[in-house]
Amino acid sequence: MKAENKTITKEDLEFDKNHLWHPYTSLTKPLPVYPVASAEGVRIHLTDGRVLIDGTASWWSVMHGYNHPVLNEAIAAQTKKMAHIMFGGLTHQPAIDLGKKLVELTPEGLDAVFLCDSGSISVEVAMKMAVQYQHALGKKDCSKFLTLKKGYHGDSSGAMSVCDPVSGMHHLFQDFMPQHFFMEAPEKSFKEVLTGEEVETIERFFEENAAQAVAFILEPIVQGTGGMRFYAPQYLSEISRLCTKHGLLLIADEVATGFGRTGKMFAVEHAGIVPDIMCVGKALTGGYMTLAATICTRKVANVICNGEAGVLMHGPTFMGNPLACAVANANLSLLKNSDWEQSILNLGTILNEELSKAEQYPLVKAVRVLGAIGVIETTVPVNVEKAQAFLVERGVWVRPFRNLLYIMPPYVMNQTDLEHLCRMMVAVVQEETCFIL
Ligand SMILES: *Cc1c(COP(=O)(O)O)cnc(C)c1O
Repeated sequence: MKAENKTITKEDLEFDKNHLWHPYTSLTKPLPVYPVASAEGVRIHLTDGRVLIDGTASWWSVMHGYNHPVLNEAIAAQTKKMAHIMFGGLTHQPAIDLGKKLVELTPEGLDAVFLCDSGSISVEVAMKMAVQYQHALGKKDCSKFLTLKKGYHGDSSGAMSVCDPVSGMHHLFQDFMPQHFFMEAPEKSFKEVLTGEEVETIERFFEENAAQAVAFILEPIVQGTGGMRFYAPQYLSEISRLCTKHGLLLIADEVATGFGRTGKMFAVEHAGIVPDIMCVGKALTGGYMTLAATICTRKVANVICNGEAGVLMHGPTFMGNPLACAVANANLSLLKNSDWEQSILNLGTILNEELSKAEQYPLVKAVRVLGAIGVIETTVPVNVEKAQAFLVERGVWVRPFRNLLYIMPPYVMNQTDLEHLCRMMVAVVQEETCFIL
């Protein structure tokens, strides 16, 4: 039997509108969605024939481009062996190979790998690890987390509870969610240093709250969905130092930043620190399948396994799915065998050059670039529907939110495409109709 190969009809789109939830949208008043026929390299092909250069890498995930022959082959080859097998009591080559790669790539000391389904779940697992670790050490009456305002860690309940209380709309879920301790969001940008007073503020935050907490969870260097903010590495080194001093674990959520995006393999490397637990996801399979991992130190693993339960209390049905592991292996090999550092530098240079041209326009508040991430922050919120239509008309795909127009292109994007992409973003900020004034 041949696979279905038909085009999306008007009725299909009507069905989509009436029956399918899209991320953070209304089912009764949804924003328009653009039907996609296929994607290749850095290009998205719409069913109406229009072709868009993708600035989003499908939310940080597609590092080597769409429809990549090596990744296609990795999945195809694995389907012929087995698409899935349970990980309880069984193991397989793709999972073992991926485990080796993750232990090798991540900072020294992170060597116990828990494979899971998505970024949010990797955060849930990290949080459970931290609770089990501290309880095993006898700190039984506490299970709070310290974290940063303007953070984002996913949409499942535990992860949501450590997202920014305002942009994460904690008031909607007040009685449903555990309450944690939020430190003011870092104010010093990537290249700045902290004053003595700022360091003392962080110290005071620990002194006031650490006794009730098990861990500090943060996104290293880049606060993504909470505002696309890039902060000074010194925050990381101070927080890491204070976690050690107060006996807390440090969880680095590298779901967005991992695998080169910020110019280092992992963003914690900007500060030269090693967290106790690290979460990776998004780009792990190059955007092919959902897969994430929570990686902890031997010490954390040992303490958990000497605790009351004797085991880590987590085990999803699709844990270590062979198709996902196989494509992740191929993806990480491509990364390792590429000159990714140079690619990120080149993309960053173009992003700086092109996006800084937006600074002169009145609606622009700030332009910032780190690694292969480019952000235009505007003074007023973007009208997503209008801005997106404007950009699609001009052959680019960008997904703005709030007052942020930002891109994190696939690493393989060439200069011409990236310049076009940036120039269209600079064109948007000159169009008042694309904003909510
Ligand atoms: C996207 C993201 C998550 C959640 O990942 P999902 O795969 O969407 O569940 C968690 N943390 C960070 C930093 C993210 O950017």
